[in-house]
Amino acid sequence: MSEPSCRRVWGQRPGQPKTEIKNIQFAKGKIIMYEDRTLVCRDCGKEFIFSAGEQEFYAKNDFKNDPVRCPECRRARKNAARNQSREMFDAVCASCGKPTKVPFQPRNDKPIYCSECFAARRGR
Ligand SMILES: [Zn+2]
Ligand SMILES: [Zn+2]
Repeated sequence: MSEPSCRRVWGQRPGQPKTEIKNIQFAKGKIIMYEDRTLVCRDCGKEFIFSAGEQEFYAKNDFKNDPVRCPECRRARKNAARNQSREMFDAVCASCGKPTKVPFQPRNDKPIYCSECFAARRGR
């Protein structure tokens, strides 16, 4: 009786890739393999995962440094930066003529209203 050929040797069959290779990039002859890494947030001290996908994204976008903050702190900082950069522009209310400030560059084709007049118009 002939035994059926058993496949005890894994990944050795010719013509077939051994394993599916994921997250490997060939950059300048150097193999970069990405795997999830655990980093510690600089702000809150919590550990967070710098995933293989994120690392690839960083590499593609030529970000030289690893993230130093967890996603939450990054988001918090982004929001803070956005609020800080909210520049106020001087404008004159188109309704009552009082000077007012608006969070956007006033344009001539759009009337600007002070907060009271704006509220009054909206409440109508
Ligand atoms: Zn954090
Ligand atoms: Zn007004």
